[in-house]
Amino acid sequence: MEPTIFDLILSKEIPADVVYEDDFVMGFKDVNPQAPVHVLFIPKVQIKTHNDLNADNMDYVSKIHLAINAYAKQIGVAEDGYRIVMNCNGQGGQTVFHIHMHFLAGRQMQWPPG
Ligand code: AMP
Repeated sequence: MEPTIFDLILSKEIPADVVYEDDFVMGFKDVNPQAPVHVLFIPKVQIKTHNDLNADNMDYVSKIHLAINAYAKQIGVAEDGYRIVMNCNGQGGQTVFHIHMHFLAGRQMQWPPG
């Protein structure tokens, strides 16, 4: 599979502002933040879209959620709250085809999201 920009961040070929990392997951600041806190959490394997999740790679999603819990507590937003979003394909607004969870915090979120 063609490497995406997120694969290049994982391999350190391009820089990113990394705020979280473990054996399975990396979290780095979004270059175009939509909230005071906007971090992208990605699995350290290439999974193109939500449609490509299956029984063999599903554990990465659990690891991402646990990473987000840890990070939300670390930066002190767990109690105030936050939003997590995963876009899928064209109508979902996905632009980078390596799954990523947007973690947004630090302001009141609106609904519907648009
Ligand atoms: P999505 O539209 O859900 O695929 O989200 C892709 C996100 O990646 C957007 O919010 C972009 O601002 C962000 N993004 C693109 N390139 C980079 C980069 N090099 N470093 C950090 N964030 C990026």
